[in-house]
Amino acid sequence: METDQRSIFTRIIAGEIPADIVYDDERVIAFRDIAPKAPLHLLVVPKTEEYRDVVQLAAGDPGLLAHLVAVANTLAGEHSDGDFRLIFNTGAGAGQTVFHVHAHVLSGELEEGSLAD
Ligand code: AMP
Repeated sequence: METDQRSIFTRIIAGEIPADIVYDDERVIAFRDIAPKAPLHLLVVPKTEEYRDVVQLAAGDPGLLAHLVAVANTLAGEHSDGDFRLIFNTGAGAGQTVFHVHAHVLSGELEEGSLAD
């Protein structure tokens, strides 16, 4: 049996897995985290899975990282009071579980003891 090597986020982008999508353009997609840690908890995800974390993204395509941040800011303004935390868990030891770079956009009070992991 073949194993699907694509990330879960690539499968969401392909429409194979349902998600509550709040934004979609040529370069990024954003949807609600399935296990929200704050009243607003979105994930903003580049459509390419070429970069496993924000360090790789910053080195490989800083323009795409800047776009991701701009989209996060716009969405925080649309879905909350505009103030937000932007979290990139980087490495398994820091709580990263999906190795397809993504930003957590959190607004409102965080769930106790949680920084998006
Ligand atoms: P991280 O642990 O930083 O890699 O973040 C991965 C995030 O993806 C977690 O907060 C998960 O709750 C979230 N997640 C995993 N699967 C899904 C899914 N199918 N739809 C929405 N969010 C998901």
